[in-house]
Amino acid sequence: MSEYKCTDCGKYKQPDRTKFSPGDTVTFSMTRATGRDTARSMLKTGKIEQIDGDIITVKVARLGAKEVHRSRLYPEDAPGALTYALMGSCKCDFKKVEA
Ligand SMILES: [Zn+2]
Repeated sequence: MSEYKCTDCGKYKQPDRTKFSPGDTVTFSMTRATGRDTARSMLKTGKIEQIDGDIITVKVARLGAKEVHRSRLYPEDAPGALTYALMGSCKCDFKKVEA
């Protein structure tokens, strides 16, 4: 997990999503409405079944196959979507590109 932590800002770096391949274990967050104005975010773990461009089919236990956009998937060893949402993600590389 530490390889994702940025030494400059202390936040987590986004994973390299170009490396996904079938059979990889990934996590993603699914939002489910729990009422009229409320929703709950849940972290799901699944296995990549098929990759079609940026749409990745992930097989999730008890849910079956889910189509998830590449940008919403995290490798199993990455901190996970909820951590990024809470901590914010590192933008240092982004800044370097801009500079
Ligand atoms: Zn950083």
